Amino acid sequence: MTAIRSSKRKPSRINHSPKKARQNRIYDLAGVVDLYQVHPNTVRNWGKQGLPHLRDGKKRLFRGEDLNTFHRRGRERRTFSCRPGELYCVRCRQRHSLVGRRVSFHWKNAVAGLLDWECPDGQGRNVTHMKRSGYDRLAKAGVNLSSDIDD
Ligand SMILES: [Zn+2]
Repeated sequence: MTAIRSSKRKPSRINHSPKKARQNRIYDLAGVVDLYQVHPNTVRNWGKQGLPHLRDGKKRLFRGEDLNTFHRRGRERRTFSCRPGELYCVRCRQRHSLVGRRVSFHWKNAVAGLLDWECPDGQGRNVTHMKRSGYDRLAKAGVNLSSDIDD
């Protein structure tokens, strides 16, 4: 199961159109997977993030209008800037506070680098490009940054 994530990584598509699903249609899991071209686990994660579903026996069904609402809200959520010490996680598509956590930062040059951090919900690793100002903000917020400056 974990092989899917590590071996072939598809480019992440964060923004799904909030108009993609037909408002009055009911989709099953395969239908949603097909519509957004995502992994079934992604759809299960959407459920954890608040996408409602109906049950038909063991099958999960999704209403088109719920899918559209979910993706519209997702867009709105993501346009908000994170609070100090928070970062957006591309793995579970939520913001996490990194305050008090230990994360590693790799400087690429004098002004920017890559922050390497694990999703606290166990969804995987994030590599976030960040400028010195972002680094300083995280450090100020209380994130425990270990950087690897060669000197
Ligand atoms: Zn996460």
